[in-house]
Amino acid sequence: MKTFSKRPAQDERLASRPCAVCGVDSAAPYWDCGDFSFVRCRRCGHVYQNPQPLSDDLELRYDYEYFQYELDNAEQFYQLMHKGLQDLDFFAHEQLLRERGLFLDLGCATGVLLQNMYRRGWRVQGIEICEPAARYAIERRSVPVHVGPVESAPLAEGSCAVVHTSHVIEHVPDPRIFLQRIYQLLCPGGLAVIVTPDRSGFQARLFGSRWRSAIADHVNLFSSGQLMRLMRELGFSVVRKRSWGGLAAGSALQPLKRPADRLAKALNVGDVCAILARKPA
Ligand SMILES: [Zn+2]
Repeated sequence: MKTFSKRPAQDERLASRPCAVCGVDSAAPYWDCGDFSFVRCRRCGHVYQNPQPLSDDLELRYDYEYFQYELDNAEQFYQLMHKGLQDLDFFAHEQLLRERGLFLDLGCATGVLLQNMYRRGWRVQGIEICEPAARYAIERRSVPVHVGPVESAPLAEGSCAVVHTSHVIEHVPDPRIFLQRIYQLLCPGGLAVIVTPDRSGFQARLFGSRWRSAIADHVNLFSSGQLMRLMRELGFSVVRKRSWGGLAAGSALQPLKRPADRLAKALNVGDVCAILARKPA
């Protein structure tokens, strides 16, 4: 899968931030990526971009060009999301949950997953910050989408049976608030599905600052262990974690890709982690 990566605009306003996981404002340099850099929190070990563009400027990155990238890759992204849900054994819970509330795709891009979940009998809702992508989802895929961040979505607490969010939390400036909002939106017994690059995976360790997920748009880089710790702290109960991806397509080590992918998956140390968590009933 190709990662969308371009240089940040020169006129973005930057600000220094404390750690979004533990709140402490003391971090050591971690990865220097040229136009931007990552630091590691001295207290909890979380890795994040610092300084970071202000939220308003970050939102401007999700423009027409970003929509085009999402649209060009929509079918491939759908296949990956569906595979992720299968690996998490999500579909075993589907029948019981479908009656209990919405399937919310938080960061739904062009709405391809929502369209498919609607066909499976779900009432669906999307939230998307990239306006052209949201418009495409509404007009071309006929699914309801709120345009804007999750904080501004007019959804009632407890209205969602499932909140799915794939490759989104690493783009969000405040992942703690983001996860808290997911928790509020879920009904008791509802499920959260969170997919994000895993900084503790094999590729991140191998490539360091050249890791394909160490890009400007990723302002928080979680290890799966830290993310699960944060989720438990916020009240979630983690049901299972899966991971996949041993080596990126097109890397210099291409002949090793297939065995590396198999090994990474078997050992649960892949490049991307997927976490299935429940809000206690
Ligand atoms: Zn911290």
